[in-house]
Amino acid sequence: MKLFTVGPVEMYRETLDLSGKQLPYFRTSEFSEMMLESEMMLKRFVNAQNSSKVIFLTASGTGAMEATVMNCFTEFDRLLIISGGGFGERFEKICNIHKIPFDTVKIPFGERLTEDMLSEYDGKGYAGLLVNLDETSTGQLYDKNIISAFCKRNGTLFVADAISSFLADELDMCKWNIDVVIISSQKALALSPGLSIVIVSDRMFNDRISNVDSGSLYFDFKEHIENQKRGQTPFTPAVGVLIELHEMLKSLESKGIDVKIAETKAQCEHFRTVAKESGLIIPSYPLSNAVTPIMFPEGNAIEVFETLRCDYDITVTPSGGALKKIMLRVGHMGNLTRDDNDQLISALKEIVR
Ligand SMILES: *Cc1c(COP(=O)(O)O)cnc(C)c1O
Repeated sequence: MKLFTVGPVEMYRETLDLSGKQLPYFRTSEFSEMMLESEMMLKRFVNAQNSSKVIFLTASGTGAMEATVMNCFTEFDRLLIISGGGFGERFEKICNIHKIPFDTVKIPFGERLTEDMLSEYDGKGYAGLLVNLDETSTGQLYDKNIISAFCKRNGTLFVADAISSFLADELDMCKWNIDVVIISSQKALALSPGLSIVIVSDRMFNDRISNVDSGSLYFDFKEHIENQKRGQTPFTPAVGVLIELHEMLKSLESKGIDVKIAETKAQCEHFRTVAKESGLIIPSYPLSNAVTPIMFPEGNAIEVFETLRCDYDITVTPSGGALKKIMLRVGHMGNLTRDDNDQLISALKEIVR
């Protein structure tokens, strides 16, 4: 079976070999040392300030999104949410549940985020802007330059859900003045699900996290940050996934993070070129290297998904909501090759014919 999904994705041999092993006890100096090394490598990979903080949460990505909102903002703030699909809507739901006021920049399907859409919200005193850098439900990659400039001129904290964009697209906390980066284990890191990572800037820590009452025991960032000073977590973490993470980060470090992103980009561009040559329809808004949406205007996307899975042993990613019948998404994260792309496209050609 081949997974062209957006998580869990096709895992690497090295990770699979690790995941079958007996787990160690974790309140030890060896485990702490591993955690501190992982923290340093993660900071380097997203070009975070040295003094920024890294929080390891045993939760899926949504848990980290919710924890970030709970620890960084209060009902006395107003937030701006860029909402162009299912994950933007998830930020809206989180703010509703936690009674944090917000406005949304709604991006209808097929349109792209523009400078003008954002500048309408200038001067309104937003404490923070929440965005999914790659809105994975449509594959749109938002322009970080536009968002960063908006946050800068409005004194707004920049919260980036980079869960599907990390390792697929360029990401640099210093260059774009990003205050929070959220990452999860089951996307391009190609690890088991269950671990999410939040990297926060000095500014976010000092101005916000230190002063905000998270209202949560399990998800309290202050506790996590205090414990991570010695390479520990407040509660039992996903020990196995943290071990997988450490190995993966070391291998990424020796490869070079730019090389990894270039590889994902090449895998994705190869797919898009061959797909277009084969007559498949790809939307025209800017796309992340993590995933390619393919349109099925005749409304047979679910049938194509099932045929690929049952007859070809290939799993792509179905869509939800209004796009369910007309769009499939092809992931480029994890252990995939050009041969895999070719096999998927030849299968798609057979099915569509
Ligand atoms: C996958 C993903 C998430 C997290 O979803 P979970 O199912 O909670 O892991 C969040 N945001 C984006 C943009 C994602 O792609």
